[in-house]
Amino acid sequence: MTIRLFHEGDKSQAICPHCRKRVGTTFARRTVPFSDGRGTVKDLLVAVCDECDSVVATPAQSTPAIQDARKRAVKPIEAQLPAIYLDVLDLAAYEIDRHSTTAFRKALMALYLHRYASGESPAEELREACLSARRAYKEQRGAARRRLSLKVTPRTSQDLRELAQDTGMSQSDVIRAVIFRIQADVLDAPRPALMRELKTLSLIAA
Ligand SMILES: [Zn+2]
Repeated sequence: MTIRLFHEGDKSQAICPHCRKRVGTTFARRTVPFSDGRGTVKDLLVAVCDECDSVVATPAQSTPAIQDARKRAVKPIEAQLPAIYLDVLDLAAYEIDRHSTTAFRKALMALYLHRYASGESPAEELREACLSARRAYKEQRGAARRRLSLKVTPRTSQDLRELAQDTGMSQSDVIRAVIFRIQADVLDAPRPALMRELKTLSLIAA
């Protein structure tokens, strides 16, 4: 069996989930978002419904492009940190939502990183937070370390890179600082408005 190769403008037929019937389709190149919202594939050859213009199928030849884009879309943030940092992050996530999953831990980090990277919270705060964190969580040699590994979108890893650059801190120190801020906001002195916002985030991230 050979795989049929399609070109832009080729005609075919498919069931359109939107029109709920068999429709004529035309192949075209489109930027298509992943179903989980994590990134997009640019200029992907897809079958477009002739009646409602929605993407109804992807031909076999587009599969490598999708897989390639997926790999690029998910970049892990990784850091070797004293175990206490991960305990704090887990505890904060638990405090916000007793049913929270690791997906929420990631969303929480992403939210904080974005706030600082976008300037909504002042990035200078992070230098101070990092110093406080290093004082609060003594990092003796030989202390248990755990690896924090969060698979995040390109946008979040870009936020982290930019913050490290702008503050002159290492990426691990930015993560230390952010976790310390999360501790302050969620565990030490929780503000009702912020807690509500974070609870909502946990619903979306779950
Ligand atoms: Zn349609």
